[in-house]
Parts: sequence; structure tokens; C-alpha cells
Amino acid sequence: MEWYKFGQECSQPQAPKCFPDGQPAGAVWAQDCHIERSEISRSARYDKSCAAGEFIELHGATKTLGGLRFSTSTCDRIGGVSSLNERWGIVGHGWAISALEHAIRAQRHAHAFLITGPHGVGKTTLARALAKRLLCTGIDAPVSQNALFGNAPVMNDEVAAPCGACRACVKTTKGVNPDIMLLEGVPSREFYNKHGSTAPPRTSDREKRTVLVDQMRDLEKWLATAPFESKYKIGILRRFEDANEEAQNAFLKTLEEPPSHAVLILTAQDAGLLLPTIVSRGQPLTLRPLSAETVERALVEKWNAPAPDAQLLARISGGRLGWAVRALSAPQLLETRRDALDALYALAREGRAERITRAEGLAKDSAALPQVFETWLTWWRDVLLLRSQQENARVTNVDYVTQLEQHAGAFSIDDIQRALNATRAAARQLGQNANARLVTEVLALSLPRA
Ligand SMILES: [Zn+2]
Repeated sequence: MEWYKFGQECSQPQAPKCFPDGQPAGAVWAQDCHIERSEISRSARYDKSCAAGEFIELHGATKTLGGLRFSTSTCDRIGGVSSLNERWGIVGHGWAISALEHAIRAQRHAHAFLITGPHGVGKTTLARALAKRLLCTGIDAPVSQNALFGNAPVMNDEVAAPCGACRACVKTTKGVNPDIMLLEGVPSREFYNKHGSTAPPRTSDREKRTVLVDQMRDLEKWLATAPFESKYKIGILRRFEDANEEAQNAFLKTLEEPPSHAVLILTAQDAGLLLPTIVSRGQPLTLRPLSAETVERALVEKWNAPAPDAQLLARISGGRLGWAVRALSAPQLLETRRDALDALYALAREGRAERITRAEGLAKDSAALPQVFETWLTWWRDVLLLRSQQENARVTNVDYVTQLEQHAGAFSIDDIQRALNATRAAARQLGQNANARLVTEVLALSLPRA
């Protein structure tokens, strides 16, 4: 068992400094760590559990608590502080909140951020929370300083923000703060000419939208004037991968010479989809999926989901809480998934002619195909898990275990691997605008027969 003392650096590879020397607070890489609770004399709040891999925040830890110790062994769940998460209104991604909170308090935060991660993982939620935090006026009193630690800003609840109660916070929560502009792609130029940027919510993740150069000019114009009632004007650009090159170039100009009150927060699935010159100018925050346990707990505790629904959604969401929350109120998401799995299970029992007919049927709804293939990938991954009999194999499609086990019994590892590869290839080809019917037929014929 290895222990880390106050002031020491954690040896976990992804870990930032646990405790920069002489400073009272810091983020600790919590995976596989274990806090010796008795060492933390005034920390009942650390007793809440948080998921493995989350960072924990040690609020107000002072030298009087010197000797806080961490072990790298024993458990993958840890008592973690969630008060920062609560303040920011965010489940998980504690490391990001912690890093942002520290930077904001030290008045060293960036003025451009790039939040990346899969759909539904919480990018926009974090962007909004960051905006709320930056605009909050409830903590205008100077950050408390602690003589013991030089001029390091001290994390304590007295100065915790966003306060949730000031004018700015209330307006941000209602979505009407005039110092925040949230922009995302529009369905078409005609739409923009008629309605501007205020498009209705997407009906699905697949719906195509484009960020237009005109929208970037709107943003630039809006940013040029002083904030209405706060310190900053904050532009949130959602799904910036939808920006065409012209729009990205226009945005780059704003990014190169922003007004001093401007803060720009971009979200995108993947930084690789943006111009490198844009990527290099923002502080990157890459959000990873949360653990199934975290999603499940949040669905039950914060969204009042019945426990069995929460368990299923947590698994199939792949750790994307936003997706799981949407699925709670949109049963068609689950139906679409069930249809896709049923179709795959049926396909595997069918002969050539039937497969072609079924593939034609599926390809008719070509807009739904990427999601179908995505769902099929989770199936083959599950079969592979069961086939290789990994201990504690935790399948995604928990409601299809019987059928999955049947496939695991019927197919060799090579069969399953080939099915996985073929499905991946099909998904890629669709992305490159290949003929949907042809791609689906080829895939249907290449799957092993049960
Ligand atoms: Zn506030």
C-alpha cells in the first residue's frame, strides 16, 4: 500500500498535483485511491461516494489537516466531495469543474474553451454552468486569502459559486441572461434568413445543421459592445463541428482579437473536426463518459427514474448522462434501439434472400441507419465479452442477455470480430455518403449465421 502525504504529488499517470506544495487545496486523481477517512477530521462531506476516475476536491483542507493520506490500492470508489458538483449543477466531470473553479478563483482562467466529447455526455451543460459561474455576481467580495498559504485562493463554502441567487444566476438559470449568447447550427440558410439563429431543438442527434458565416458575424457584432450587467459576455457555440469552413474562418478572426470582456466556449464531438488554428486557441476540456454506476445513481436521485429503468438506461447510454435523461422522457429512443436489436437477431437466423429483403427494408430509413449500426456494434461487443468469458463481463444490452448468450455460444471469436469489423466499416461508409442500400446489404450478408 502506497501513501501520499500532504504536499506530495500523486503518481497516478493522469493526475495533476494532488497538493501543490504549501497550498491548501487541489484535485486528486481518485481512481483506485482510497482516503483514510479518519485522517480527515472535519470532512463528513467526503463521505458521499463518487465514481471511480472522478477527481475529488478537498475543500478547505489546511495545514491543520496535514497528513491527509491517499492509498493507491484497495477500492475504486471513493468518498468524494460533490459540493462543487452540486454548486455547478453537474453530475460527474469533477476534474473539469475543479480545474475551472481553481482558475476562476485565481483569476487565471482562459477566455476561450473547447469542450469535446460524445453526444449527450454533458458538454453544453458544462458550458452553461461555466457561463453561470463566470457571470455570477454573488461572490464579488474579494476571494478570501489565507496567510498560511501565501496568496493562494482558498476554497471554502463562503465564496462558493455560482451562488444561484444573484440576478445573473437567476437569469442564467432561466436561459434569459443577456450576457450569454448560445449559438448552434440552423437547418438551412432560408431558415436563418427567416428566423435567425433560434432553431427549434433537434428531433434527433442525426439531424443535419450548419453553422453559417452570418451567425459568426452576428456573434462578432454582439461581442463588440460592453456586457449588459456582468463582467463578461459569453458566447457558447454548440456543436461547432457543424460550422462550415467559411464560418470557422470568420470565427477565427474573433478568436484572434477578442474584446477583453469576451469569453468563448465551443463544444464539439471531436477536436479533429475543427480547424487546428481554432483548437490551439482554446483551453481543451475533454469529457469522457461517466461510469454506468454514476449515471444510474443520478437518474434515480436527480431524475426520479424507477430503479430498473435507471439501470438499463445507464448501460445503454454508454455513460452519456444527457442521452439517458433524454431517453427517460422519449421512449421512442428505446423503441428504436429495440427494433434495431430485434432486426439484427432475426438477420442472424436468416438465409441470403431474406437478408437482402430485410436489408432493403432497413435502408429505406437511411437517416436512422447510423444509429442502427451503432446499436449493432454494442451487440457484437457484448457477444464478444460473453464469448471470451471475461470475468465480471458487464454487457451493455442487459435486457437481451439470453439472446446474447445464444450468439456467444454459436459463434467463434473470429466470427464475432469479423461482424464487429464489418459493422464498423458499414458505419464508416455511410459517413462517406455511400449508397445506404448497398452498404446495408453487404453488411447483412457478411454477418455470421446462427
Ligand atoms: Zn450568482
